[in-house]
Amino acid sequence: MKRTKIKDLIATAPEEQTVVVMGWVRTFRNNQFISINDGSTIQNIQAVVELDQLEEGLLKRVTTGACISVTGKLIASPAKGQQVEIKVEQLEILGDSDPEKFPLQPKKHSLEFLREIAHLRPRTNTFGAVMRVRHAMAFAVHQFFNEKGFVYVHTPIITGSDAEGAGAMFRVTTLDAENPPRDEEGKVDHSQDFFEKETNLTVSGQLEGETYALALGDIYTFGPTFRAENSNTTRHLAEFWMIEPEMAFYDNNDNMDLAQEMLQYLMKYALEHCKEDLAFLDKRASDEEMTKPQAQRSELGLLDRIKFIIENDFQRLSYTEAIDILKNSNPNKKKKFKYIIEEWGTDLQSEHERFLVEKHFKKPVILYNYPKEIKAFYMRQNEDGKTVGAMDVLFPGIGEIIGGSQREERYDKLLTRIKEMGLPEDELKWYIELRKFGSAPHSGFGLGFERLILFVTGMTNIRDVIPFPRFPGHAEY
Ligand code: ATP
Ligand code: MN
Repeated sequence: MKRTKIKDLIATAPEEQTVVVMGWVRTFRNNQFISINDGSTIQNIQAVVELDQLEEGLLKRVTTGACISVTGKLIASPAKGQQVEIKVEQLEILGDSDPEKFPLQPKKHSLEFLREIAHLRPRTNTFGAVMRVRHAMAFAVHQFFNEKGFVYVHTPIITGSDAEGAGAMFRVTTLDAENPPRDEEGKVDHSQDFFEKETNLTVSGQLEGETYALALGDIYTFGPTFRAENSNTTRHLAEFWMIEPEMAFYDNNDNMDLAQEMLQYLMKYALEHCKEDLAFLDKRASDEEMTKPQAQRSELGLLDRIKFIIENDFQRLSYTEAIDILKNSNPNKKKKFKYIIEEWGTDLQSEHERFLVEKHFKKPVILYNYPKEIKAFYMRQNEDGKTVGAMDVLFPGIGEIIGGSQREERYDKLLTRIKEMGLPEDELKWYIELRKFGSAPHSGFGLGFERLILFVTGMTNIRDVIPFPRFPGHAEY
């Protein structure tokens, strides 16, 4: 007989039909009640064995963590909180789990502890829920773009360009690390390397993405990106997934419209399709909030925060307006910020972004028109000569969730900026050339997938929303 997933069983009318369930034992009470989870849902199913039904040796092997297969009748459950249960007829151990050694006991474990056993943590309610939501969000991203007629483009993971401009890169090489070939000057000779040049892992698919937008119209990428930035924060990973739409004929306003529409679509999708997991995560997040001092607790619960995003327009604000607000803000005047805002032109820190979102506007904010000095070379220069058509979407609890811009489509302006910034012109030749042959206004942005998952799941550390996190000093598994 084929096994049925627990998700389907609990939605089935119990008619004493014979069913097979396979999964992992969460608890076994009174030598009678086995709680089984198979990952298809956060809910467990209860399998009931009669006293003396199973031989002693078999019973002893029904331990927390063991994998079992149960065959029995699906009946209405007399117990509270569940519709159905299984009256066991046959029980088979598929994989033993020594209860003395299995690290996941049926009690609350800290997230720090679970991070050390990343191969077992998906067996917990929290990680099961987070990863099912992560899946749903990935699916919804593709559905959103597909409905809008965007083409999914696979940009390279190994890039030949080291001027993507988004962060420090990881070198890719097959040269002997102990004894690399060297040229006359004693420098490592990459002409003898696999690609006969220096290559790196991509920090962004944007530049390549633009080439496809200027041919197919609306495109997006969704793939892994790598940044060798030594930032040990709860919002940075060395390997993360990014969604990067790029659209021909969009100006920066269209760009902001799309960013808001997409985020609201994804939030709606989560509310509709991840009800049980989100209900669990909502409770988990509010329990965690209660351990914080009153002043640091967020005013809304997880589900309310998600609804809030769906129901409210994001506040759009120029960088210049933001600086005025920040300069005159209480934390700035009272020197409560770590970085005091003194003049126009300074880069905003996460504390400033969070002040605008969480304290001042109390809603998501889109900041646009940043000083060109603090933004990348490819952003479109505004008439004022000082700012570029950038836009960052800032979310409560997260800070920057999206970074994007209208791109500089004018050949001369782009070339001048590249020279001013001393960037390698010949490496960017193809990118500059796009502006020579049928250039067009276009825009795009990057959404950090894990930052999205942080927001939707209410988790607080980015290392807990990706299966195997990579960050400085950590590349286990
Ligand atoms: P931050 O200032 O937070 O480091 P950034 O300005 O470097 O972000 P972009 O280069 O604009 O970010 O990247 C686009 C998006 O990718 C960001 O808005 C964010 O959601 C996400 N992102 C950037 N760096 C990381 C990282 N190290 N880990 C996870 N997500 C990231
Ligand atoms: Mn960064």
